[in-house]
Amino acid sequence: MSQYWSRLVHSLTPYVPGEQPKVDNLIKLNTNENPYPPSPQVLQAIAEQNNEKLRLYPDPNSDLLKQAIANYHGLNSTQVFVGNGSDEVLAHAFQALLKQDAPLLFPDITYSFYPVYCGLYGIEYNNVPLNAEFAIEVEDYQQKCGGIIFPNPNAPTGRLLPLSAIKQLLEMHPNRVVLVDEAYIDFGGESAICLVNEYPNLLVSQTLSKSRSLAGMRVGFAVGQAHLIDALERVKNSFNSYPIDRLALYGATASFADEEYFQDACQKIINTRETLTAAMTDMGFKVIPSAANFVFATHPQKSAEELALALRERKIIVRYFNKPRIDQYLRITIGTDAENQALINALKTLT
Ligand code: PMP
Repeated sequence: MSQYWSRLVHSLTPYVPGEQPKVDNLIKLNTNENPYPPSPQVLQAIAEQNNEKLRLYPDPNSDLLKQAIANYHGLNSTQVFVGNGSDEVLAHAFQALLKQDAPLLFPDITYSFYPVYCGLYGIEYNNVPLNAEFAIEVEDYQQKCGGIIFPNPNAPTGRLLPLSAIKQLLEMHPNRVVLVDEAYIDFGGESAICLVNEYPNLLVSQTLSKSRSLAGMRVGFAVGQAHLIDALERVKNSFNSYPIDRLALYGATASFADEEYFQDACQKIINTRETLTAAMTDMGFKVIPSAANFVFATHPQKSAEELALALRERKIIVRYFNKPRIDQYLRITIGTDAENQALINALKTLT
């Protein structure tokens, strides 16, 4: 029946999200979710909307949430854009800001949604190789380009780029947007949000899916100077005038009010990551230094696929990649301390 498809649909290679198993008795370390529940204040805020109020459309401007994000980061609410997960925020940014008359640049090992958006919006791109240690080499971005996007920390490597390097990129291409995708920034990285007022070409996206335990709610945001946010709003309002639903609007806003809970959960994950890194290093793994809620690691003798399949038999799911250069690497999400101990015990029997 594909004769009904448009030429565009024929050409698409859609993103395949990580597996969400239908059973509960697994230790799920494959999609970088937070192992802790969201703040009780979030659950309370959702419960308050979950009755008579669901009849009503949500605020199309998400003002409450924009104001909460702006206050949290010391910005004005005209500098905040919100969307249905940062994936949607990124999609709007690709269309509104990154489709230019020269190829978009992003690292060759990075978030695999970027080439998918390029396919959808007809954006040319160049992959810029990471160096031997999986780090971004700023000098390699000197070429003519339509913009730059990269996650910081990068995914799936977990490597962090310092703010000094981000400033270099911003200054290298003052007339192009540099989009820093900070999905994992709260696990030990320094956010580029502090540079937003200084650089008119900087857009920073973040998500509530990881550090705020709200992957199931689908809320993400971008911050930048008002002219960049206006462009995103134009695209959004030409697509769907309600960016997020009513439960998400109130739940997400409440999450920014419970700072203590947030800091505590992030710190627990950082501590567990360091325990896992030390244990895997002792077992002979090479573990790339991670600033994210996952580790990226390879074993000199054991194949990543075999390790992943053997872990799966022990009811632990981790991620491996059918991609040159990283096909011997496992990406393992940081779980609770109990999940981490089960993982370490299983790996000990396998290495
Ligand atoms: N950016 C990166 C680098 C990611 O790994 C993810 C999660 N897969 C996202 C953005 C999107 O996250 P979400 O849509 O849940 O906000």
